[in-house]
Amino acid sequence: MAVLRFKALEYAQNRPAVVVSPPSTKVSDYYGTNVFGLDAMRSNLSADIFKKVSRAIEAGERIDEDAADAVAAAMKSWAISKGATHYTHWFQPLTGATAEKHDAFFDVMPNGKAIEKFKGSALVQQEPDASSFPSGGIRNTFEARGYTAWDPTSPAFIIENAAGCTLCIPTVFVSYTGEALDYKAPLLKALSLVDKAATAVCDYFDKSVSRVIATLGAEQEYFLVDRALYNARPDLVMTGRTVFGHSPAKGQQLEDHYFGSIPSRVHAYMQDFEIEALKLGIPIRTRHNEVAPSQFECAPTFEEVNLAVDHNLLLMDLMEKVAERHNFKVLFHEKPFAGINGSGKHNNWSLGTDTGKNLLSPSTRPKENLQFLTFFINIIKAVHDNADLLRASIASAGNEHRLGANEAPPAIMSVFIGSQLTSVLEELETNATIKIDKGDNMYMKLGIDKIPSILLDNTDRNRTSPFAFTGNKFEFRAVGGAANSSSNMIVLNTIVAHQLFQFRKEVDAAIAKGEKKEVAIVNVLREYVKSARGIIFEGNGYSEEWIQEAAKRGLSNIKSTPDALDVYINDKSIHLFEKYGIFSHREIEARYEIMLENYIKKLQIESRVMGDLVLNHVIPTAVKYQSILVKNLEGLKSIGIKAKHTKNTTDTIEKIAEYVDTLLGAVEDMTEARKKANNTENVRERAALYGNEVKGYFDKIRYSVDKLELLVDDEDWPLVKYRELLMVR
Ligand code: ADP
Ligand code: MG
Repeated sequence: MAVLRFKALEYAQNRPAVVVSPPSTKVSDYYGTNVFGLDAMRSNLSADIFKKVSRAIEAGERIDEDAADAVAAAMKSWAISKGATHYTHWFQPLTGATAEKHDAFFDVMPNGKAIEKFKGSALVQQEPDASSFPSGGIRNTFEARGYTAWDPTSPAFIIENAAGCTLCIPTVFVSYTGEALDYKAPLLKALSLVDKAATAVCDYFDKSVSRVIATLGAEQEYFLVDRALYNARPDLVMTGRTVFGHSPAKGQQLEDHYFGSIPSRVHAYMQDFEIEALKLGIPIRTRHNEVAPSQFECAPTFEEVNLAVDHNLLLMDLMEKVAERHNFKVLFHEKPFAGINGSGKHNNWSLGTDTGKNLLSPSTRPKENLQFLTFFINIIKAVHDNADLLRASIASAGNEHRLGANEAPPAIMSVFIGSQLTSVLEELETNATIKIDKGDNMYMKLGIDKIPSILLDNTDRNRTSPFAFTGNKFEFRAVGGAANSSSNMIVLNTIVAHQLFQFRKEVDAAIAKGEKKEVAIVNVLREYVKSARGIIFEGNGYSEEWIQEAAKRGLSNIKSTPDALDVYINDKSIHLFEKYGIFSHREIEARYEIMLENYIKKLQIESRVMGDLVLNHVIPTAVKYQSILVKNLEGLKSIGIKAKHTKNTTDTIEKIAEYVDTLLGAVEDMTEARKKANNTENVRERAALYGNEVKGYFDKIRYSVDKLELLVDDEDWPLVKYRELLMVR
C-alpha cells in the first residue's frame, strides 16, 4: 500500500477548522496598529521633524542626518513598546522573495553593559552581507558590497513571530557602485517619471494638479492544499507545481466552486491572515472562491503603487506563515495543476492626481472627459507601441506554463475597452480635422460632449483580455500569481510616461503653430487611435480565432520566456530605459541574465524531479502491479481459463510495459538533453536548450505517467491524486 499517501489523506480528512478570534469586533480598533505610518509619526515626532519626513514622502526630498536620528529614535521607542527586540532592513532582491537581515536593537558599551540603540545612520543605510543574492555580475561576489537604503515612502512595520517581534524597514538594495540590485529602486524611478509626465499633461486641463500618483490594486489568486498532502508530493514541495497527475472526473467544468460557499477550514484561514494583514495596514477587502477547485482570491483596496507592491509581498509572506497554523500550504505558482485554471495577479492600475481625481474615471463634464480620453488613448498607444516589452515584464518559467500553453490565456498582448468606448474612438477616428469658429460649442464639435452618460456604465467586462479597461482603471491580468508586481509596473509606468512626454511635445508643437489647444489635443489623439487600433480586441481572447486574427494584425505572440526576455535588451528598450534613467545598459543586461538563469534553474529542478519520480516512484509501482497481473495470468492459464477471458489482463500488462518503456527512454533522453544544456556556456543558448529541448520531454513523460495512474491499483499509487489534492474542505 502507498503508506505515505494514505497516512496523509487520513490527516487531511480529520482536520478541524482552526478557531480564529479577531482582536476586536471593529477593524478600526486594530487596523494599522503594527505600522509606523503617518499617524504614529505625527504622535511620536516633533512637528518640525514630522514636516520634514512628510516632505520626503511626498516630494522625495532628502532627510538630513538630524531628522533621520530623530525618526530612528521615535521608531525605536515605538517598536520596543510593541515588543520588538530586533530590526531589519526589508528589501526585494531579484530572487523574487523578500529578504531580511535581523540586528538586535542593543549595542554593547565599552563598560560591557548593553544599551538599546538605533541611530539614524542605521535607519538610513545598511550593508547586508548580500554576496549570495543575484546581481548578474554587477557586484562580484568577493566584493560583496551592496547596501540597503531606507525608502521613507513605505512605512516601517512590525512582524510578529513566535520568536519575538521585529521592526522591518522597507529599503532599496543597490550595489556599491550604485546599480540597482532589486525591484524597488527602478520602480521608484518609474513612478516618479510617470508623475512628471502625467503632471505635464494635466497642465493642459487643470493647473492645480502638482503631482500624479500611479495606483495599484493587486488581486491575488492562490490555491490551498492540505499540508500533509503537499508533503507527500515531492514535486509540489520542490517546484510549487504538480508535474504529474491525471485530471479528476470532476474538475472545474461545473464551475460550481466559483463564488460558492467557502469551506470552513479555508474560511478560518482567510479570516486569520486578513487580521494579520489589517494589523499591518494592508487594506485587504475581498475574498472569494475562484474558478478552479481549491482556488481562491483576495484583493486589497488600491494604493499608491510602491506601497501596494510592498503590501502584496508582505501579504504573500503572511499568507504562507498563517497557512502553517491551519495545516495548509498556499500555492502562488502560476500553474500548479494541469487541466484547470492557473493563478494570476491581476494588476488594477490607474493614475490619480494630488487633487483627488482619478484620471481614468470618466466624468459628466466635457472638459474633464477630454482629459480622460487623453490619458485613456495615450495608454492604449503606449501598450500598442510597447506590447513586447509588456510581455517581457511578465515572463517567467511559471507564467510560461500559464500563458500561451495548451490552456489559455494566450501570450498576445491586447487591450479591451468595451463597446461604448470603442464607438467613441471610432467616431473620433472618422471625424475629419475640425475647425472651431468663434461662438461654436467646441466640445460638441469635437464630439466630446456625447461621452459622459454612456461611460458611467462599466458593467461591460471581458475576462479573457490581458489588459482590460474596467470602468475607471486598467486591469493587467496576465501578471503571474507568484510575480513581484514591480516588474510589470516598472515597464507599464515607463512606457506610459514616455508616451505622455511624446504627446505633450506634439501638442505643444501644434499649439505653437497657432492651433487651439483643444483642437490640437483632439488631432493628436485621432492619429494615435489610427495607429494603435490594432491592439484593441473585444472578442474572446482565449479562442483559436483570436490567435489567427492577431497574427493577421501583426501582433506578437511570444510564447517562450527566453524569447520574451530578449526584448529587454533590444536597442529600443535599452534606449528607452537609458533615456529616462530607469535602468542603465549594464543594469538591464544584468537583470536579463538573472532572469534567464532563474528560468534555467526552475526548468532544471522540474526536470530532475520528474526523472526521480518516474524512476523511483512510478516505474517501481507500475512494475509491481504488472507482476501481480502476470502471476494472476499464469494462475488463470494453469487452471485452463481460455485466452479470450484473459485478454484484458494481457492488454493491461502490455500497456504497462509500453508506458514503462516510453518513460525509461524519455527520461534518459531528457537527462541527456539536460547534460548538453548544462555544458553550454552561453546563458541565452542554455535557456533555449532548456526551453526547447529539456522541456520538450515534459508532456510526453507526463502523458505516460498519467496513463499509468489510471491503470495501477489505487491502493499502490504513491502520489496523492488530483481529486485528493483539490478537494479542500
Ligand atoms: P473587479 O473585482 O470587478 O475587477 P473591484 O472593484 O473589486 O473590481 O476592483 C478590483 C481591484 O481594483 C481592487 O483591488 C480595487 O481596489 C482596484 N481598483 C479600483 N479602483 C482602482 C484605481 N483607481 N486604481 C487602481 N486600482 C483600483
Ligand atoms: Mg478584477
